[in-house]
Amino acid sequence: MHAEPVTEPEYDVPDEGPALTCPYCSRPLQTKELLTYHVGLAHDDVCSDDEHEAFEEAREDEEFDLFTFHAKAAVSVFLVYFMFVFLYGLVWSG
Ligand SMILES: [Zn+2]
Repeated sequence: MHAEPVTEPEYDVPDEGPALTCPYCSRPLQTKELLTYHVGLAHDDVCSDDEHEAFEEAREDEEFDLFTFHAKAAVSVFLVYFMFVFLYGLVWSG
């Protein structure tokens, strides 16, 4: 009987780990967008003008998406409401 070769477990961070780290607090972030948001939110007072601008642009995109989503939702609610009123009117007039 002979002992199994013991291999040291690897704790090295694999290459596909977070490629980006916050330049201010070294926090790992998965994507450039997350980094932009993180810097804009957490380091607003110390980040560069470029970083602040990137954050504002990213946030405006998000707000625009939210606006179109709300607009679509409002139109949908209106159409459903209109349909109900129309059907209700048909029932009562018939
Ligand atoms: Zn940070």
